[in-house]
Amino acid sequence: MSELERITVVGASLAGLRAVEFLRRANFEGQIVLIGDEAHLPYDRPPLSKEILRGAWERDQLALRRKGYDELRVELVLGRRAVSLSAGARELHLDDGRVIPFDGLVVATGGCARTLPHQPSLPGVFTLRTLDDAFAIRSALAAKPRVAVVGAGFIGAEVAASARQLGLEVTVIEALEAPLAQSLGPVVGGVLQRAHERRGVRVVCGRKVTRFEGAERIEGVILDDGTRVPCELCVVGIGMTPSVSWLESSGMELEDGVRCDETLAASIPRVVAVGDVASWYNPLFEERMRVEHWTNAVEQARHAVGTLLAPHEAKPFESVPMFWSDQFDIKIQGAGRPKPTDELTVIGSPDDERLIALYGRAGRLVGAAAFNQAPKLIQLRRLIGMRGAVDEAMKIVEA
Ligand SMILES: Cc1cc2nc3c(=O)[nH]c(=O)nc-3n(C[C@H](O)[C@H](O)[C@H](O)COP(=O)(O)OP(=O)(O)OC[C@H]3O[C@@H](n4cnc5c(N)ncnc54)[C@H](O)[C@@H]3O)c2cc1C
Repeated sequence: MSELERITVVGASLAGLRAVEFLRRANFEGQIVLIGDEAHLPYDRPPLSKEILRGAWERDQLALRRKGYDELRVELVLGRRAVSLSAGARELHLDDGRVIPFDGLVVATGGCARTLPHQPSLPGVFTLRTLDDAFAIRSALAAKPRVAVVGAGFIGAEVAASARQLGLEVTVIEALEAPLAQSLGPVVGGVLQRAHERRGVRVVCGRKVTRFEGAERIEGVILDDGTRVPCELCVVGIGMTPSVSWLESSGMELEDGVRCDETLAASIPRVVAVGDVASWYNPLFEERMRVEHWTNAVEQARHAVGTLLAPHEAKPFESVPMFWSDQFDIKIQGAGRPKPTDELTVIGSPDDERLIALYGRAGRLVGAAAFNQAPKLIQLRRLIGMRGAVDEAMKIVEA
């Protein structure tokens, strides 16, 4: 039985909301407060770069909870930011001066879009993390601008695909040798690059943006070889930074997010962290990691609630990270912890855009990526979780 009477969750998005739901499912009967600095009810982010930008979905389709909030018996505090945490007094301080006492705390504050050091605050220059960002970009797209996307990670590549699907002229600029090179390596990234190019996106790799041009609004970006890419809309998609500045004076250990142990417990007692903000040691891969994908936020919320309610029975969170990304008609899915330095085996033809990539370390399968091959990926994820071998993975792929 839990000794906690009042649990506060900071961050009212996917991980925070799911933590509240799992608390109630675990029969926690005490008081729950959910605090979020956005004015909106919790909404889903993956469609922001896809259906929302393309105009295929509206705001109400993003709701993360359709049943309403009554049965959760949660006090929702929206549009308010937690500004500090007093660990000794077990109190949170909000930006309106309110003080929220708590017995247990879930940190689910995700992150903010990173910006370039020289990025101007100029009309037409955007980042994409929130619903408000997505609708601002969507209205700008309606003027049929030429689009420059800085960064060909998942979000940048999705923005490029969505803008191109609207019939716009799109250039993507990536500092590495290929899109997604950091996560999936240059070979698989190259397949994605060609898929974009076949659909009319101009992809410039190995180049950095050194300057933004325009006085009243964006007119172009200048690359490090002097090339000018004219644009009326520029989306900078270069990753995110975990939102932990509000915890800096709390004494909580921070290191690329909230530093947790194997069970997702933070360094302050009865505090856990979940989702994009949580850095934890994953024994399955024998490394500390922080994962910025949807499935991880949900799985961590379930696990961390167990850690919070029954710390003496807490187990390591040994998960196989998993992601998906939709670009044009291609569904990319990945599992595990692939690194560009892994031994890569690619099965299938890049030209028909149905392939599976296996990532091995000393014969052990540590990652897999699939283009339009969803069922196999699920089996491969299971095998990664069992510390299976690349040879066994080949049997799954060839079956
Ligand atoms: C455009 C986009 C597309 C994506 N597409 C995919 C996809 O296709 N597949 C996939 O697997 N993943 C995707 N993701 C990633 C996925 O959405 C995230 O992993 C997920 O949202 C993480 O949830 P979270 O609750 O941990 O963090 P977030 O969703 O970042 O939520 C954190 C919340 O906390 C709030 N907050 C921060 N600081 C404070 C504070 N001090 N006080 C109060 N509130 C605070 C934030 O404003 C935010 O509302 C995408 C993300 C984006 C942005």
